[in-house]
Amino acid sequence: MKTQGGYTPKISGRPSNILKKIPLSSSLNIILNRNGRQYNSLVKEGQKVRIGEIIAETELSDSKEQATEKHQILVLPSPADGTVHLTVDEETDRTVSIKLLDIGFSVDKNPAAVKDPSRLTPVEARKILVKRGIWDYFWSSKTKGTPGINGETKPKAIIINTVIAEPFRTRGNVILQQFWHSIIKGMSYLPLLLADYGTVEFILTHKKDPIVKLMFKELTGKAWVKFHFVDVKYPVENPLIIDGLLRDTKVNLNPEDDIWVVDIQAVEAIGISLGKGVPISRRIVAMGGPAYPDPMHINVRIGTLLKDIIPSAVDLSSTLVLRGGLFLGTPVDPETDSVGFDDDAFFFLPVKKTREFISFVRPGIKKRSIFPTFMGKIDKDMSTQLRGELRPCIACGKCQEVCPVGLLPQIIHRYLYSDRIDEAQKMGLNSCIDCNLCTFVCTSKIELREEFARAREMLHAEREGVV
Ligand code: SF4
Ligand code: SF4
Repeated sequence: MKTQGGYTPKISGRPSNILKKIPLSSSLNIILNRNGRQYNSLVKEGQKVRIGEIIAETELSDSKEQATEKHQILVLPSPADGTVHLTVDEETDRTVSIKLLDIGFSVDKNPAAVKDPSRLTPVEARKILVKRGIWDYFWSSKTKGTPGINGETKPKAIIINTVIAEPFRTRGNVILQQFWHSIIKGMSYLPLLLADYGTVEFILTHKKDPIVKLMFKELTGKAWVKFHFVDVKYPVENPLIIDGLLRDTKVNLNPEDDIWVVDIQAVEAIGISLGKGVPISRRIVAMGGPAYPDPMHINVRIGTLLKDIIPSAVDLSSTLVLRGGLFLGTPVDPETDSVGFDDDAFFFLPVKKTREFISFVRPGIKKRSIFPTFMGKIDKDMSTQLRGELRPCIACGKCQEVCPVGLLPQIIHRYLYSDRIDEAQKMGLNSCIDCNLCTFVCTSKIELREEFARAREMLHAEREGVV
């Protein structure tokens, strides 16, 4: 498949293929927010829970399609045995996380939790995937998010993506090499979710990779599995891009056909949960960036506090930690934040502790330019702002060069800046896939992606009659 886009940042600290197992911490902290949804705790202070037990739930109702399906409940399973301590936000009086103390791991395998795909109906398969906290790993082209649970729509294709081009996120081949038996097992459940004559589409890179050859051999003869090879070009992992690539390749897909995307780590989770009876409890996470010594992948329990896994050589007072890699990462507080159900990367960036020298000649300077773009090359501490105002677009065209869907971000920005949202829409505002490349390379450090996402949210709210 011909891949669009492609951008390689010149930043050191790419995680190696080494996978290190992190020992179990004495306590875990399960944040009750997953994929932007707030979960409600189902457990009480002091309660003892077992691994795999459901500890929180929320309603799935992100879109019109999902709203038509009633009573769709997503859940969070406990990643370990432990005693519950609830953390409540004083302002909202809401439970924001469940701390597990006296941690244990009672079952390696639970034979009763093993489900053979040949003995499951499609409805049962969906219910089990939901109950085990796996459903949220799927993305649907219909809802542009988590698919509806009740089975009103079935996908014509499920894409398994192994290719992560973002250089600081968990690499597919690390998962493939370590867990390919579980992946093969996980794949055997996917036909239960498909529409009639649906297919599983495997996205890989490098036909010659030994592990890929092994998979070919294992899956030969399974007519429902198809293979595709793509170049490792960011943001090929974006579900919207993969969905588009598949539709370009397979002419028999109709625009209204639902396509689901799932990553290789999620397929492995299906394999161990349904195939081996082990509840989902860990993530493979890439730890990298210029401020991380010996960047690598780690195998870590969900809920582990970041401060428990960050090596002492990292000076947290001068390091910015981003959840989600370089391009889409958001800052986190290692003291209170922990590994979530969907995490696959933490990126460590040094922040210089320089004294503000002759600062009076640079009044209003606030935000440092930490990436190697125009200003970054001249002075790593150069600000994004001049005298407190935002820096204007200088029409350098760098954002346009990198946009993988061929938008002109600078023009959309100008329309939005002057409140001409209709014109911004005509220029493709709704086609933006949130890859953040334009923001990353922007010479003036304009938060383009954020600005576009805000505008789309506003339009969405208007359409839904919220404003
Ligand atoms: S406009 Fe959207 S799709 Fe294009 S580079 Fe920016 S964030 Fe990515
Ligand atoms: S990269 Fe930034 S400064 Fe350059 S054209 Fe795009 S928006 Fe303007």
